[in-house]
Amino acid sequence: MSSTPVPDSPQGGTTPNITLQMLWDYLDEALPQKDMILVENALRESESLRQQLQQIMQRRDNGEHTVGAIWRRYRVSCPDRDVLSSYLLNTGDPRLLDYVRFHLEVIGCPYCQANLEDLQQVYESSKASAKRASSKDPSRHRR
Ligand SMILES: [Zn+2]
Repeated sequence: MSSTPVPDSPQGGTTPNITLQMLWDYLDEALPQKDMILVENALRESESLRQQLQQIMQRRDNGEHTVGAIWRRYRVSCPDRDVLSSYLLNTGDPRLLDYVRFHLEVIGCPYCQANLEDLQQVYESSKASAKRASSKDPSRHRR
């Protein structure tokens, strides 16, 4: 997936406060009113931004629109860390776990992947220390 839209492109790009994400949302009319106006004004002023919008429109036409839309929709509803940890432990509502799997593997959300890795480390280390603790003091439980 080399042509996945960059989530929050660092400000090296075009106009300082218009992200690629905002342009996609602009095309979908999924932005709050004030951001729609912001983008509209920025488009009027910036030639390179207009070109960027043009490129996005072409990519939408090539079928990336769907992926992009899904990606964004799911990114907006990123599962929180509780959900991610139940995914990690494979506990909880299977439908929810399924959704998380979709979010991580199909959408490939970089935020949640990083989060999951982080949780995994925490989990591994707490497992290790729980082992140590339980051999000394069996009455102590870690949540
Ligand atoms: Zn996510």
